[in-house]
Amino acid sequence: MAAKAVKAETEKLYECDVKRRRVSSRGGYESFWKVKNVTEALVDGDTEFRCKECHGGVKLHRKRLPNAPAAHAEHLSRQDSEYCSMGMYFQQAVDGREARLSESPVL
Ligand SMILES: [Zn+2]
Repeated sequence: MAAKAVKAETEKLYECDVKRRRVSSRGGYESFWKVKNVTEALVDGDTEFRCKECHGGVKLHRKRLPNAPAAHAEHLSRQDSEYCSMGMYFQQAVDGREARLSESPVL
């Protein structure tokens, strides 16, 4: 493989899907996904997240230090990051690949 510059940076997604519940017109509750800023999701105490583009699982990182990057999310799976339009590896890829949904989406 051709050598690529090693980037120390990590993936940073500042928005993600969060799972919410609403009253269903058929009675009871139904869940749905809503795009939300990661910082707001953490403040609001949301507990279920996924990537808003590829629907793959993400891990949230809080802002821990004043100089640290803002709260953000990162794909759990490298494969998702490689084929998600927001993925760091996808954006670094130079093979003209096309973005696709996660093979193990969070439903
Ligand atoms: Zn994604």
